Amino acid sequence: MAIEQVGIVGAGQMGNGIAHVFAVAGYDVLLTDVSEDALTKAVALIDRNLTRQVTRDMISDADKVAAMKRITTTPKLTNLGSADLIIEAATERETIKQAIFEDLIPHIKPDTILTSNTSSISITRLASRTDRPEKFMGFHFMNPVPIMQLVELIRGIATDQDTFAACEQVVERLGKTSTASEDFPAFIVNRILMPMINEAIYTLYEGVGSVQSIDTSLKLGANHPMGPLELADFIGLDTCLAIMNVLHDGLADTKYRPCPLLTKYVEAGWLGRKSKRGFYDYRGDVPVPTR
Ligand code: NAD
Repeated sequence: MAIEQVGIVGAGQMGNGIAHVFAVAGYDVLLTDVSEDALTKAVALIDRNLTRQVTRDMISDADKVAAMKRITTTPKLTNLGSADLIIEAATERETIKQAIFEDLIPHIKPDTILTSNTSSISITRLASRTDRPEKFMGFHFMNPVPIMQLVELIRGIATDQDTFAACEQVVERLGKTSTASEDFPAFIVNRILMPMINEAIYTLYEGVGSVQSIDTSLKLGANHPMGPLELADFIGLDTCLAIMNVLHDGLADTKYRPCPLLTKYVEAGWLGRKSKRGFYDYRGDVPVPTR
């Protein structure tokens, strides 16, 4: 089936970026959110991010105008009925995602592909609650979507090859690169990245090094563009903790035990950049390590 119209559920951090890249690639985009405010903010943000791409000569002004025209917003989920592909990018809570698919199913076409951008919820379990587990899979973008090259494509146990191949083609048309992952906790990127970040926090917790020395060591000693603690603050410490818990619960191995210091920062509400304090304090002109 040709995919031309894409429905995106959730216009938050990820949903607006997903709408942006699909519109630039020439797809018609239907973007929905329960919050009208989120939809208004998403359109303004997409406009700003497209302007930045024009300024950097990545796209032309005409490309920007055409991309903006391809995006339609609606507060009504059921208006996504005509989409050929749905990408659910709503809040990371299983009951919310389940309800979205349940409400959508009576309104969509029989061959519409359903996908979720979830970072941690089982694709197989989400799929099993729908009428089409073979046409359901994970479509996992990285943040920020317009900049990051990778999309992880996750096969649920029932996902069929035609569905997987159709999503691979979509990623290609977006100009991005896909990797295939089976449906196990945290997939590939976070399965490897989060234990490294957690280990950096243990290194701090045990007094092996300061925030500064840990980040500098990994930047200059392993050629990482960002130190692991700086990166944790960028991702959000609550998100890091949630993913470690998914690994710990899902794989039942003590090597995934979240560091108590990570839990402590989250308890304090020091969630990283978004709350202006994490392993660094962002309230001044330059970030200052908090330990
Ligand atoms: P976010 O909180 O920025 O946005 C979520 C949006 O979903 C909000 O605007 C909210 O109003 C909307 N929403 C909630 N319930 C809804 C419903 N029933 N119908 C329609 N919209 C609804 O979250 P985010 O960071 O954009 O994350 C979205 C998804 O993407 C999650 O599954 C998350 O795991 C995944 N993800 C996030 C990142 C990241 O770095 N933030 C990276 C990869 C994947």
